[in-house]
Amino acid sequence: MRAVLSRPIASRWTGKNFASSERRIATGARAAALPIQGLAEAGYLTNETVFSLTELPRRIAVIGAGPIGCELAQVFQRFGAAVTLLEVAPQILIREDRDAAERVERALVRDGVELVTGCKIAGVERRGTEKAISADNAGGRLEIVVDEILIGVGRVPAVEGLNLEAAMIEYDKQNGIKVDDYLRTTNPLVYAAGDVASAYKFTHLSDAHARMILRNALFLGRQRVSRLTIPWCTYTDPEIAHVGLYAAEAAQRGIEVDTYTQELSEVDRAVLDGETDGFVKVHVRRGSDEIVGATIVASHAGEMISELTTAIAAGVGLGKVGDVIHPYPTQADAIRRAAGLYSRTRLTPFVAGLMKRWFALTR
Ligand SMILES: Cc1cc2nc3c(=O)[nH]c(=O)nc-3n(C[C@H](O)[C@H](O)[C@H](O)COP(=O)(O)OP(=O)(O)OC[C@H]3O[C@@H](n4cnc5c(N)ncnc54)[C@H](O)[C@@H]3O)c2cc1C
Repeated sequence: MRAVLSRPIASRWTGKNFASSERRIATGARAAALPIQGLAEAGYLTNETVFSLTELPRRIAVIGAGPIGCELAQVFQRFGAAVTLLEVAPQILIREDRDAAERVERALVRDGVELVTGCKIAGVERRGTEKAISADNAGGRLEIVVDEILIGVGRVPAVEGLNLEAAMIEYDKQNGIKVDDYLRTTNPLVYAAGDVASAYKFTHLSDAHARMILRNALFLGRQRVSRLTIPWCTYTDPEIAHVGLYAAEAAQRGIEVDTYTQELSEVDRAVLDGETDGFVKVHVRRGSDEIVGATIVASHAGEMISELTTAIAAGVGLGKVGDVIHPYPTQADAIRRAAGLYSRTRLTPFVAGLMKRWFALTR
């Protein structure tokens, strides 16, 4: 999405003619910096500059095992570089459930990535054409010597140089522009969309914001950010896709959930594809089939999550999802099978007993 700032924002605060005078800010985000001693002098790549490389570095250290760090670490390793992935947390992809992150962790290590978790970078030193990273973890001091360093620690909102104060638009450098549930800034004539105004930084969310602003600003719509169902995906191999709440988040909000997990090792298509290291996990509100969240680890998890996203957005329960006929053999059939696990819990002891006897007789 391109940034839209065609006229100075402050000059448009007339309070009149709302629809024609509204303005949008969509300046996005930029690579976050890391205050590591010696890093600036040694030189480093960011999640923007890395795409301008014309030669494959022989050895590369990726600092930060978030989505972009993990994706790029796997890419460089598969291109043939020797990759060391350094992460301060005890696991990669800290926002994801541990069981999901572990599947990707295993895949990275299988590919040959040297993974160092729980480590704190002490400093970087340039030695001729090489860069030496000193880091501490439970095992003591490590030295990692590489040709390139890639900082993969995420993105911060691009709020500088906009003179937002003059337009009375509140912001902070970490969280970006303050918006209400309709994406209006503290100046009611100005809306903000995308990375500059959102904790979630995704292309599809920026697109949803832009469409929401059009409706809210031009067609007097009342669409709310809080009502959006936002899926996301990390494009490692396997991918991790998620929508809705994690179990821990549900617990924090006092929502009791039951969780149904279908391993891909029991799904014929995944076995045929040799892609069995994954699962579909669905959380439903206890006592109902309302889907409150789901995580999928699979080669095409990003494709598969849309079925559950649609179910959440349309208020379709997991029982109904289980009634939907899925083509065989597909990996998405794992979703139907997870729903089947839920449906089995709905059987009364009497019906369960009848079915058990029926299957025993017909065996
Ligand atoms: C390496 C990488 C991989 C990613 N992968 C994915 C992915 O797989 N899936 C996904 O959903 N998201 C991904 N993202 C995130 C995604 O790129 C962003 O969420 C998305 O681009 C945000 O859109 P936006 O319109 O808010 O901002 P941007 O796309 O960043 O657009 C903002 C524009 O505004 C311009 N601008 C900035 N300041 C000013 C100014 N003062 N005046 C005029 N113009 C200005 C910028 O130059 C830029 O062109 C990735 C990001 C990175 C860095």
